[in-house]
Amino acid sequence: MDYQALAELLFPDSTATREEMEARYPARSLPEGACVTRIGPSPTGFVHLGNLYNAVIAERIAHQSGGVFYLRIEDTDQKREVGGAVETLISAMSYYGVRFDEGATADGESGSYGPYRQRQRREIYHVFAKWLTAQGLAYPCFLTAEEIDAIREKQTAAKENPGIYGPYAETMRSLSIEEIRARMDAGQPWVLRYRGTMQEETIEVTDAIRGTLSMPRNCMDFVLLKSDGIPTYHFAHVVDDHLMRSTHVIRGEEWISSLPMHIELFRALGWEIPVYCHTATLMKLDNGNKRKLSKRLDPELALSYYQQEGITRDAVWELLLTLLNSNYEEWRLSNPETSYFAFPYSFQKMSISGALVDLDKLRDISKDVLSRMTAQDLYDQLLAWCDTYNPDFAALLRRYPERSVAALGVGRTAKKPRKDLETWKQACRFLSFYYDETFTVTDSMDEQCEPETRRTFFRTYLERYDHSDDSTVWFDKVKAITDELGFAVKPKDFKKNPGQYKGSIVHITNMLRIALTGHANAPDIHEVSHVLGEEIVRARLARFTQE
Ligand code: GLU
Repeated sequence: MDYQALAELLFPDSTATREEMEARYPARSLPEGACVTRIGPSPTGFVHLGNLYNAVIAERIAHQSGGVFYLRIEDTDQKREVGGAVETLISAMSYYGVRFDEGATADGESGSYGPYRQRQRREIYHVFAKWLTAQGLAYPCFLTAEEIDAIREKQTAAKENPGIYGPYAETMRSLSIEEIRARMDAGQPWVLRYRGTMQEETIEVTDAIRGTLSMPRNCMDFVLLKSDGIPTYHFAHVVDDHLMRSTHVIRGEEWISSLPMHIELFRALGWEIPVYCHTATLMKLDNGNKRKLSKRLDPELALSYYQQEGITRDAVWELLLTLLNSNYEEWRLSNPETSYFAFPYSFQKMSISGALVDLDKLRDISKDVLSRMTAQDLYDQLLAWCDTYNPDFAALLRRYPERSVAALGVGRTAKKPRKDLETWKQACRFLSFYYDETFTVTDSMDEQCEPETRRTFFRTYLERYDHSDDSTVWFDKVKAITDELGFAVKPKDFKKNPGQYKGSIVHITNMLRIALTGHANAPDIHEVSHVLGEEIVRARLARFTQE
């Protein structure tokens, strides 16, 4: 067979050479040791946590080494694509502060290794497809879907590996150039297949995270170009990561099984193999069993979930770094004030078993993150979140800016600040008692004491209430009333002799909390009263002198 003639027949319009391509995308001039990394998401409209997870690693590896981190849009699967998906992806990444040095942007691209959208790289792939054909390493395959199904059935019955290889590839491999031309003239669709070699060889690949991977060599005649001339992931990955000069390929472990195909292609094309880094799949605990996070079952797989819940980007980053490097938590404890961007990320500390996304842990991280912020920062970020997700609450925050900042500062001056806030969504619920517009009493006072004593308590409290009392004077007054009404000032006295008292000071302060905030479990009464202001305090308490 004249492979050169076959290459011309299949790719008449492809005129550029391999050498021209190499010259157009030369080796990058970067300092020794600088890494070039990328993420290659597919624009399906669903940006998942895994996209950010791999982006965090790739970004760290590139920027820690003084290298380049870029965004490539892997849009070869038109069926899965939805409109606006690239914009959604780019805006999600920018929301999380992922900084690309080059690649696709919302309105185009930047960088000299583009195009960075795979569908715009068709001509580039064809240069190498043509070259492989001319070497006798690729051939057109006209098998129809039905014929491939029939082959698979035969293979299943004979308990053989499914796929087009060896004997199953023979009919198509041995078509003559005349037969190929005739089929093409008749308009029969074809795909371009790689010509696999049936060698019982094992290949070894060193994965930066997993160490040496030993696997059987590829023997499949896998598809390089689909019938529309668009490459498969396998072919596009090899061509792009070579021409864009990636030094490290960071991607999910689901790609390990296709690694032999990629190695085969790199070797066939005579290119240096990048360092592979296969990251652990995101998992969750479900009734005690670890399982893969599922798009259908687990809303937390979508990055939009964290935005909708109002979990800060810092908390999400911290969760991912906790999952990614086993020493992150230790580092955070010894560097509480430092930005996570300063954390020295390393491959050696990466886990290879599934990474467990634990929402309870995320909530704890989120509480810590929020407890480290100033009241003013909390206000600004909460307001920004509410503008999108809770406009009614945003209006309240704007109407009462001073009260809101003061409310966000409650309990934060102590050595160990309170960790009342978990997420922006929860913060709206938590703060709602500070505004008459959203205040409701949800806890009942019935458990605290009987109604007559309750009315007496609130009347006395209001009579003696002086808004300018400091917290010590204020608390002395509360203790005095507690005693006068026959309640134990020390809770342990009540515990010892419950028969002697109507209750303890805990019942008294619970009533105050419920009256002022709606809940028995609330921050410091004196502090809250000062955020609310005298007028609101008196109005809220007055109601219970009657009820
Ligand atoms: N487009 C692939 C994906 O969405 C990217 C894999 C890679 O990074 O090579 O999983």
